[in-house]
Amino acid sequence: MSSREQIMERLIPKPRSRFLLVSCLQCGNKQVFPDTATVKVVCSVCGESLAIPTGGKAKIFGRVEKILD
Ligand SMILES: [Zn+2]
Repeated sequence: MSSREQIMERLIPKPRSRFLLVSCLQCGNKQVFPDTATVKVVCSVCGESLAIPTGGKAKIFGRVEKILD
């Protein structure tokens, strides 16, 4: 790693949370929400729980299709 890259690394802080693309196990609807969700996330189509807050990282019930960061 060059010194220039090390400087860039310091200037751009890593985000604390990442967004997840999660598909509902019941109906396949896909929703995006942060992995640090502080409220319960439910499927907008069928109402199935997709994630519940745990104080840190949310507990995910759906299938994580993609991590967006
Ligand atoms: Zn659903």
